[in-house]
Amino acid sequence: MSSLDPFDNLEESQATPSDPNGPSDRRYMALALEEARRAARRDEVPIGAIVVCEGVVLGRAHNLTRTHADPTAHAEMLAISQAARRLGFMRLVGATVYTTVEPCFMCAGALVHARVKRVVWAVRDPKFGGCASLGQVLTHPESNHQVEWHEGTLAEPARDLLQSFFRSKRAVPRVTLGDE
Ligand SMILES: [Zn+2]
Repeated sequence: MSSLDPFDNLEESQATPSDPNGPSDRRYMALALEEARRAARRDEVPIGAIVVCEGVVLGRAHNLTRTHADPTAHAEMLAISQAARRLGFMRLVGATVYTTVEPCFMCAGALVHARVKRVVWAVRDPKFGGCASLGQVLTHPESNHQVEWHEGTLAEPARDLLQSFFRSKRAVPRVTLGDE
């Protein structure tokens, strides 16, 4: 699949640096939502992420934990790895990461390691969110790098996508290992 190619689907953009809730935030979040829909089509929890630096999309990915049988294959992890490989550098200074769901502790930690400037998410994750819901990894006062964050951009379509995914899961009888 093309989505496994880290250098596929990279897009140039003419957008100017984003303002909170401005048109460029919505535009990049729309790309993250496209990624989330790809995840849903693969029967993955529909979460997508985009990394943008100076108006260039350096990384875009969706959740692939089931496909890769890898609990770390979250959209944000995959997108920042792509971006760093593309830059040939481990830090994404000045980058903004758009993700359809509030990053978990693992992803928030990776975003701090990558020194991203800003994170924008659509909806909070009350069970796993490590940025606002269950912890403040991006803005912990003892941390040597603070990441700005903003939430709520295109929240409605992101929430609809998650709700319809989980509703469809509940509608289908579960087949578990050992049922055959
Ligand atoms: Zn995560």
